[in-house]
Amino acid sequence: MRWQGRRQSDNVEDRRGLPGRRLAVGGGLGTMVLVLVVMFLGGDPQALLQQMQPPAGGPAADQAAGPQQVDPAQQPLREFVAVVLADIEDVWNDLFQQQVGEKYREPKLVLYTDQVESACGFGSAAMGPFYCPGDEKVYLDLGFCEEMKTKYQAPGDFAVAYVLAHEVGHHVQKLVGYMELVDKQRGRVSKAEQNQLSVRLELQADYLAGVWAHHAERTKRILESGDVDEALGAASAVGDDRLQKQAQGYVVPDSFTHGTSAQRSKWFRLGLQTGSFEGAKALFELPESQL
Ligand SMILES: [Zn+2]
Repeated sequence: MRWQGRRQSDNVEDRRGLPGRRLAVGGGLGTMVLVLVVMFLGGDPQALLQQMQPPAGGPAADQAAGPQQVDPAQQPLREFVAVVLADIEDVWNDLFQQQVGEKYREPKLVLYTDQVESACGFGSAAMGPFYCPGDEKVYLDLGFCEEMKTKYQAPGDFAVAYVLAHEVGHHVQKLVGYMELVDKQRGRVSKAEQNQLSVRLELQADYLAGVWAHHAERTKRILESGDVDEALGAASAVGDDRLQKQAQGYVVPDSFTHGTSAQRSKWFRLGLQTGSFEGAKALFELPESQL
């Protein structure tokens, strides 16, 4: 991806090297309202809730440890994600003005190391990047970008850009109401139907990432040869079928919450080709067999 020499976003909140829990808040998890956390990777939301409990040892242990050194080798990556975030802001600022008729509210990007506290609860690097609608922030441990190469065999800078654009896609879904739509069904529909809605939400975020790439390419010529393949590689590397197979050796379609590898690639590609914000509606209109 061509990225050097462009604006870096001011919306990066760098918490790398800071303890995951800053304060021992009275009431702790009891006062926490978990609406819906959307992750990049597959996974059962129930399991996620449990993962989001603070680690044993608690805040005191964390605070005693104090800030750690930030890895200087991450600096180019930090600059890269700040440029990509700015590119994402530019596209959504335009599209909201033109097509929604409202001002786009830019999300923050929180960079952290290992563990982080969000309005949605406690997050850890093992979950992969996630978006918390409660505070409208995307959470990313830069170490994940390295894992994409090693653990998921999805190398390339544009693979990282796609991940970021996918998470901001969830933010767009919050702003335009898709997230609320899915959240309202929670508890009213069966587990399988709930998963199906979750798949639609994830595929739509992939589609919106494609829409972003389309407009960024149109206005800034960001794509280099191989970039699209990098994004498609990342999209299929984190399909539920692939992840489940890796984790347990077989796949259970009803438990999918993010879509298969083929679906994720398909919707990213469609967004990239059309650039149509309107087209995102299809994800909640088409029958399941056509996703
Ligand atoms: Zn997602």
